[in-house]
Amino acid sequence: MAAHPEARILIAEDEPKLATLLCDYLAASGYAASWIADGRTVVSAVRADPPDLIVLDLMLPYRDGLDICRELRTFTVVPLIMLTARVDEIDRLLGLELGADDYICKPFSPREVVARVKAILRRTSARSVPGGTLGLSIDAVGHMASFDGRPLDLTPVEFRLLKTLAASPGRVFSRAQLLDNLYSDYRVVTDRTVDSHIKNLRRKLQRPGTDHELIESVYGVGYRFNRCP
Ligand code: CA
Repeated sequence: MAAHPEARILIAEDEPKLATLLCDYLAASGYAASWIADGRTVVSAVRADPPDLIVLDLMLPYRDGLDICRELRTFTVVPLIMLTARVDEIDRLLGLELGADDYICKPFSPREVVARVKAILRRTSARSVPGGTLGLSIDAVGHMASFDGRPLDLTPVEFRLLKTLAASPGRVFSRAQLLDNLYSDYRVVTDRTVDSHIKNLRRKLQRPGTDHELIESVYGVGYRFNRCP
């Protein structure tokens, strides 16, 4: 499967050698990569020209990556890979629930970064999802969704879950299949995590005056997305 070759990657990294190396490797894999060194300009660059994925260094001059990540997540669920120089920081980062999709520890091989970029974009690559007639609209490029004309306030995981389910109405997904689409492979999560995300998603997709469930549980199997009656 072609790995979203037209995707645009923004790299926020202040070490020119590293940034250039990453850009070169990403370009060689068919991505359009650009980079920013100044932490103060990342948010405005993303707002002005939203990329398909961001690789964000934690230690940037003038503004740190955590702070940038927090602000990005107030308006976009664009896939985000954080770079950190300390392996012991990863647990802390995961604990912060910042909404990054993946974390990579320095030093890393550029090949590893390209592989992670590919994996994440594969999960988020559907450019348009059927569902307009449902009152549900999913903008896979802008990473936004709305329901009956009102914007849905979804976490990145909820957004991906909804996109996966809505892309194949009627198909039953097992929890394991959904997990596969949600997280990077190495992360340990349980079935119950899926259930709790689904529960939140359903709450956000409630339509007043109807008990029709857009996301239906299939007993003993998993979940499926229903078209509206
Ligand atoms: Ca740095």
